[in-house]
Amino acid sequence: MKIYNTLTRSVEEFIPNEEGKVKMYTCGPTVYHYAHIGNLRSYICEDVLEKTLRFAGYDVKRVMNITDVGHLTSDGDTGEDKMLKGAQREHKTVMEIAKFYTDAFFEDCSKLNIKTPDVVQPATGCIAEFIHMIEVLLDKGYAYLAGENVYFDTSKLKNYYVFGNQNEEELYVGVREDVEEDTNKRNKNDFVLWFTKSKFEDQALKWDSPWGMGYPGWHIECSCISIKHLGEYMDIHCGGVDNIFPHHTNEIAQSESFLGHKWCNYWFHVHHLNDRSGKMSKSKGNILTVSVLEEQGYDPLLYRFYCLQSHYRKPLEFSFEALDATKPAFDKLRNKCSQVKKEAEAGQDKAADKDIYDTFRAKFSDALANDINTASAVTVLYDVLKSDMDAVTKLALIESFDEVLGLNLTKASSGTGTDEVDQELAKYVSEQIELRRIAKKEKDFAKADAIREELKSKGIIIEDTREGVKWHLA
Ligand code: AMP
Ligand code: ZN
Repeated sequence: MKIYNTLTRSVEEFIPNEEGKVKMYTCGPTVYHYAHIGNLRSYICEDVLEKTLRFAGYDVKRVMNITDVGHLTSDGDTGEDKMLKGAQREHKTVMEIAKFYTDAFFEDCSKLNIKTPDVVQPATGCIAEFIHMIEVLLDKGYAYLAGENVYFDTSKLKNYYVFGNQNEEELYVGVREDVEEDTNKRNKNDFVLWFTKSKFEDQALKWDSPWGMGYPGWHIECSCISIKHLGEYMDIHCGGVDNIFPHHTNEIAQSESFLGHKWCNYWFHVHHLNDRSGKMSKSKGNILTVSVLEEQGYDPLLYRFYCLQSHYRKPLEFSFEALDATKPAFDKLRNKCSQVKKEAEAGQDKAADKDIYDTFRAKFSDALANDINTASAVTVLYDVLKSDMDAVTKLALIESFDEVLGLNLTKASSGTGTDEVDQELAKYVSEQIELRRIAKKEKDFAKADAIREELKSKGIIIEDTREGVKWHLA
């Protein structure tokens, strides 16, 4: 399997430390707001990566943190505390906000068929480990106390900018242009490991530490949590491209200084989802969520399909027009797969043709092994549907591909039959469902309800479900 490694800036053969096993870490969400569909693009692509590894036979252990403390509005330790800001906005406690948005995140993930990692670790559950790591860094001379905060000293490293091609000046400005500089820092890219004194006098969550009551910096949590659950050597670490600097750069600085050896071999970064105004971001407000998609009548899996059609290393532009343009192909694909299922079930006694099955499975696997080329993998699926192999073999392939694609391929609207009457009916109902979707999108709910009632009067019941709109005869 070949994968692009941000650390070496090249597509490399993926070789885990231990044969057959993969230790994988994902930077989790900061739970002060709903995840937007940009964040979820990263999680969809990382989910496909994990499932590709499993499809290839690896035993994967995946860990994800939940950032419920320490993340400031600037990734460079300045600005407001995101969790506190969320709590104030909603007149709730920080922990209430954290719980609410953590649950909302996993609900969205489930709608997008994103598997929950094997270990999910909130940062507030690991304070003792953070303190221990900071003590070791101080002992080893990689950290210093200044203004009652503890900082990591980036000048102690031979190569702090491990991801290369980074212009220090540019990166620093990129982090934040409008904040006052922290005069405690010895070097401008030094970062906070532990805050005791900051401008947040009203910081909600504080813990006792050898340096006084305070709270951890953001970067330390991912170093600690990954080492706690995956050990000293990790195979692959994921996140969005905005995490490369400073977050992942700082994670490497801390972890390798703490451990005294190389820590993680492969770094997988997903490029951003943009809207017309640029990178989609929670701090811009007005964010596009899975719920917004659903309110407008879109099946969340249509968005997953939209993401899979582009490569994770390219920026992806989102618009409703683009989603609308993808919808007919997605509906057709799922209807075809459902038809195959019906045909296969009719000829249940037959076994799948092993040679054909292995050939197409290998083609699908090769597409993904080529730096997770999901668009090519989808093309292999179309090739299966077009081919004249028997339905039982087709269905076996579809179901196996869907383990990675996660599109609920054989769960299209019920009633999609193979005979003529069924097809006529299915066509009529899907047209009505589409008209209802458009009405909902235009907020013409009276029209949407009228369409539902009209169908009901004809004995056709439609239901909004997690997998999209389904229908059946009364
Ligand atoms: P956050 O909740 O802000 O910590 O971000 C969660 C994940 O989403 C991180 O891996 C980010 O790199 C990623 N991310 C943030 N914005 C976008 C975007 N517009 N497109 C894709 N991924 C993003
Ligand atoms: Zn992280």
